[in-house]
Amino acid sequence: MDVISVSSFATGKWVAPDAGSRRDVASAVTGEIIAQVGGNLDFAAMLHHARHVGGPALRAMTFHDRARMMKALALHLDSQKDALYRLSHMAGSTLADAKIDVDGGIGTLLVYASKGRRELPDSHTFLDGDVEMLSRGGTFVGQHICTPKLGVAVHINAFNFPVWGMLEKLASTLLAGVPAIVKPATATSYITEACVKMMVESNLLPQGAVQLICGGTGNLLDLLTAQDVVSFTGSAQTAFALRSNPHILRNSIPFIAEQDSLNATLMGPDVTRDAPEFDLFVKEIVREMTAKAGQKCTAIRRILVPEALVQDCLDAVSAKLETIRIGDPALETTRMGALVSQDQRNSVRAINSQIGSEARAILCDDIQNVDGADAQAGAFVAPALFHCADPDTAQFVHDLEAFGPSATIMPYRDVDHGCAILNRGGGSLVASVVTHDPQVARQIAEKSAAWHGRLYINDRVSMKEATGHGAPLPHMVHGGPGRAGGGEELGGIRGVMHYMQRTAIQGSPDMISAVGETWIQGASTTQPKTHPFTRKYGDLHLGETLVTDSREITLEDIETFAHFTGDTFYAHMDEEAAKANPFFPGRVAHGYLLLSFAAGLFVQPDPGPVLANTGLSNLTFQKPVSPGDSIGVTLTVKRKTPRNEEYGEVRWQVVLHNQDDEQVASYTLHTMNAF
Ligand code: NAP
Repeated sequence: MDVISVSSFATGKWVAPDAGSRRDVASAVTGEIIAQVGGNLDFAAMLHHARHVGGPALRAMTFHDRARMMKALALHLDSQKDALYRLSHMAGSTLADAKIDVDGGIGTLLVYASKGRRELPDSHTFLDGDVEMLSRGGTFVGQHICTPKLGVAVHINAFNFPVWGMLEKLASTLLAGVPAIVKPATATSYITEACVKMMVESNLLPQGAVQLICGGTGNLLDLLTAQDVVSFTGSAQTAFALRSNPHILRNSIPFIAEQDSLNATLMGPDVTRDAPEFDLFVKEIVREMTAKAGQKCTAIRRILVPEALVQDCLDAVSAKLETIRIGDPALETTRMGALVSQDQRNSVRAINSQIGSEARAILCDDIQNVDGADAQAGAFVAPALFHCADPDTAQFVHDLEAFGPSATIMPYRDVDHGCAILNRGGGSLVASVVTHDPQVARQIAEKSAAWHGRLYINDRVSMKEATGHGAPLPHMVHGGPGRAGGGEELGGIRGVMHYMQRTAIQGSPDMISAVGETWIQGASTTQPKTHPFTRKYGDLHLGETLVTDSREITLEDIETFAHFTGDTFYAHMDEEAAKANPFFPGRVAHGYLLLSFAAGLFVQPDPGPVLANTGLSNLTFQKPVSPGDSIGVTLTVKRKTPRNEEYGEVRWQVVLHNQDDEQVASYTLHTMNAF
């Protein structure tokens, strides 16, 4: 096979490695040189290109435009992913491992594309929270908004997820409207490069939206400004070196760190040898230790077991590990491939031997033979399992991350002791608890959740559908305190906000409405002559309002509604009992009756552009309505969001008021309206 010349993608051009700075990368399986990496790049020009070409192009798009682009990109990558699987074998990954990386990355893009359409507006500004009333008369209000940073996201990624690592960061960055410069780890940069080539060839991304550095980053970090963000994934050591760069510190440049972590799993005190949770616990451990040959930031390193079950657990885990077939990752029969490099193998062996100095090695043999490959030429290791009898005095098992198939079983006495050991990792990405007792789960969450970015609880009920201890999901936060880097990524739309600036905007309702592209109460309104339900989506304007006639509510209405619906609650039916209630002057109208009458007042009954009422939100009943009171409604177009080619969602502010013009109820009505 030809040696791959791994290029960078800078200022819209591919730049091949130059003879002066290139580094060789060896196959994880054969040890042969398979790639050369390292270019001479003009980092100032790359930043300029991102800031002046990529950024403006992305910011000209709405959240929905960007989400559609991401979906198309994900589908394009999905159609070409076999090539990425093949390259992944050379990095030691089996097909299952490669799918975690490649399909996991594509899936993350798709989830963000979908969330972008469903949870973000079809505009440029994200409204964070509700309008705050800052004045008695309502002429001065506040609103938090988030807008894209006017800079570049620099993504520095670890070797173990060359595709997922890039795509999970790009998903939130591109959705935010920020261009990225991606720097993959040298050891697997040839896989990232192939993926970026597919992205560039798709022509789906605007110029300057994504650039790639294969090789060193030179003076890049020294050229960043406070509008840029560094998002780093890798070892604690590198994170520390980069985040303490004086230029980064002096300019308050946001630095998100996802770093290594001594993740633990705990078997609940309720679990017995013959409970389904015991087998589940063993299965998860073996899967986490061997998937990607243990090179997952979320892999289980520490295994906490009630004292009485330690020997059973050691026996069960080691028996399963011994059945794992190790070999050429391209073979279908191989369950565990190789580590990424000889350096990585040396590092894992060195840390295993330190752990072995304070814990008994149950399995830790050097590997002699593997299926279809040379065990020594490739970076193969066998799983290593240790038993640490005294986790309270041990140090290495809580401090050292052997980034390979290596884990230690240790006993705990009770929940308090178990939590104390769980927390000894000094901050982790994930801890898991296998228990069938909800009280154990609650106690552990109270005592331990603060030390972990994710707490994964599994038992016989959830085991068939649970997504796995080690799987970060785009919907849920990924990151952790302390040792894990103190950073946060993913977590749905939360992850997008790392690339946006939150700003408190204050001003009159008209100002805030214009900035947020959403009508708010107190802002100007118009009252067109035709009913808004007769006009198509595109002909509705923010702030246009319908003021209805009013309608009296009689005792008979209340009684009819009560008997018709079965809601004969005393506040509507029993004068004495209602009066005794601190909220009511006597019998009052049902809230649901008011909503129904409101609809009767504002709807236009003929078939027209309003296709459906899809819900209502933020409903509050503010003042009771007594028999003899009248209600009228104002209906105002608040926000519009296109959904597809045929229709879009309109949100209406609905306010019900009584004969004294007092507000009695309000809510947001959601309808789908034809274009
Ligand atoms: P690493 O050695 O710390 O490298 C991480 C990244 O930093 C690589 O792209 C590396 O590039 C780059 N880098 C190193 N020195 C740099 C410098 N001076 N300036 C700019 N960039 C620099 O980590 P790794 O060996 O790739 O990854 C393994 C570690 O990552 C493990 O500890 C694992 O736990 C952690 N990890 C964490 C997560 C998470 O989400 N928390 C995910 C995956 C992995 P080069 O390769 O070119 O040196």
